[in-house]
Amino acid sequence: MDLTQEIEKSKNRILETTKFIMDCGIDVDINIEERLGFGEELLKMKELHKRYTAALESAKSERTLDGFMTAFNTNWEEEQRRRLNIKNTKEYKDYKAELEKIAGTTTSISEDASDPDIVVTGGNFVNFNDPWTKAIMKNPVRNTICGHNYDKDSVIGLIKDNIGIICPVLGCASKTPIQPHHLTPNVELRIEIEKLQSLEEND
Ligand SMILES: [Zn+2]
Repeated sequence: MDLTQEIEKSKNRILETTKFIMDCGIDVDINIEERLGFGEELLKMKELHKRYTAALESAKSERTLDGFMTAFNTNWEEEQRRRLNIKNTKEYKDYKAELEKIAGTTTSISEDASDPDIVVTGGNFVNFNDPWTKAIMKNPVRNTICGHNYDKDSVIGLIKDNIGIICPVLGCASKTPIQPHHLTPNVELRIEIEKLQSLEEND
């Protein structure tokens, strides 16, 4: 059984049954919020499954069982530390829009801004945290080789004494040691982070 497919099916089933009930004009109360919640849980499961698979995949290159277990555990711990904000994903938004269309209502459920460390752009997670320190980046720089971001102090501190540091982002394909001239200030990301921080301060 492919979990991702099963989840997709379950999600569609919720939409179908909702549509069925609406089409029949049966006088039942459809709890849209509850149905949205189911969808959210399903998508959360799907994302966790994806992360789990990624952690497994990147440990596969290890040649010994011990090496594999260590690599897998490290990867999986890292994946679990990453925040999950399903409500900001396009998939969830599409599901919500579809459900609302079927039910002919709009729900007042606001988007959850409580989990702001990850933003989603076109299905990709952009992390606001430095991959080494895990702290929110103050001065993000982008690695022009692979596109990943680091906090300037953090990466410069590491690479100035060690010429063999490679990108630590999980699943990064680049094996090129990071050099100062690979790094360029990521102004857009910095603005995003500052925006987020000013929002948090106003809370
Ligand atoms: Zn990278």
